Amino acid sequence: HLDRIAEVDGEYHAYLHVAGDRALAAAEDVDRSIAAGDAPASALAGVPLALKDVFTTTDMPTTCGSKILEGWVSPYDATVSAKLRAAGIPILGKTNMDEFAMGSSTENSAYGPTKNPWDTTRIPGGSGGGSAAALASHQAPLAIGTDTGGSIRQPAAVTATVGTKPTYGTVSRFGLVACASSLDQGGPCGRTVLDTALLHEVIAGYDPRDSTSLDVAVPPVVAAAREGARGNLAGVKVGVVKELHSDSYQSGVISSFDAAVAVLTELGAEVVEVSCPHFEYALAAYYLILPSEVSSNLARFDAMRYGMRVDDGNMSAEQVMAATRAAGFGPEVKRRIMIGTYALSSGYYDAYYGQALKVRTLIARDFDKAYEQADVLISPTSPFTPWKLGEKVDDPLAMYLSDLCTLPTNLAGHCAMSVPSGLSKDDGLPVGLQIMAPALADDRLYRVGAAYE
Ligand code: GLN
Repeated sequence: HLDRIAEVDGEYHAYLHVAGDRALAAAEDVDRSIAAGDAPASALAGVPLALKDVFTTTDMPTTCGSKILEGWVSPYDATVSAKLRAAGIPILGKTNMDEFAMGSSTENSAYGPTKNPWDTTRIPGGSGGGSAAALASHQAPLAIGTDTGGSIRQPAAVTATVGTKPTYGTVSRFGLVACASSLDQGGPCGRTVLDTALLHEVIAGYDPRDSTSLDVAVPPVVAAAREGARGNLAGVKVGVVKELHSDSYQSGVISSFDAAVAVLTELGAEVVEVSCPHFEYALAAYYLILPSEVSSNLARFDAMRYGMRVDDGNMSAEQVMAATRAAGFGPEVKRRIMIGTYALSSGYYDAYYGQALKVRTLIARDFDKAYEQADVLISPTSPFTPWKLGEKVDDPLAMYLSDLCTLPTNLAGHCAMSVPSGLSKDDGLPVGLQIMAPALADDRLYRVGAAYE
């Protein structure tokens, strides 16, 4: 994989940092312990991985795709990084991402965009476009992403790879640099459903260092993937969400989705239509809740504690903070800090943030009703196949629309997966099928995903 990275990543720019020597040393450790007759640390021991550059690592920089953290090295490992190391998984490097995980195309990275390996004039999705592109271009067999509103699933969809957003609270956020804390969740990415399941079991689990971590058993996702691979979905009820099936989606996305419904029916699933009337407000609620949390979380980048510091020697502390943040943050991050600060300000709080929280509850209730009728819900992962680099950079609202189908899951704290569902008949580009399940029923995603795959 290191040779492959050296050969092709100049073209794709999936990685921000490659840790060749460290990765090789970790692989050799695994070899040595197996040669000594020890049981492997996990089923994935020795299988290398690409890590999104938003998880802290003590042996490589963590930049979050931002200038403000250029060259910063964390004094501690994220729980996810530590679990990967303990499982004997060598970390090849850190992958490119939209700055602080805000975006859907990886064009908001301060270090330049990643290109989609299917067509290098197109976006690889975002914010975890680097991880998805690393998988699609065979620069890593496994990767880690984070999903606040779709940043694992939409990149998986547009690169024909697999990605899961686990149930909120099941993968530790300790050492995951926060975007929006009530929505952020790390998750596994792979080229097959079973690979993704194996990685899921490595990274999930209770962590007392994350205050929202759930002290429950990890759902049996590997067993579910193996069961699903037998291709029998008899007894499984699949709900098609009416509100996530629209004529405004690309026609190739809709026809791929309709074909997926036919496949699931053939496999024995019972397909029903369900209605989630409040999903149409998910985008508006998300783009108030997320910026509100962002405006608070990103206050820590104050030029005193981390990374960049702009200071001409004659500035007050306040001027240093302002100058550093002005120079260190990119336009999308600034836009969201301003929206969030406005939405939380006194006099507007009830009208915006308070309303958005009410919508969030209504969306969770829609899900609860839908899951009375179905075991899993499905939709296209994104209304669009990968668009041209540059096409939406000047139109943030158009960019936000690509998250339409993925956001409700994050707002409810549930789990969801994207699996490849073929190439669009319009443009020959990848389309993803989204499978959603209730909190702590992540195993259902893998059963249905593996059967469909
Ligand atoms: N594209 C969404 C956003 O820009 C999702 C981001 C994410 O999941 N990190 O907010």
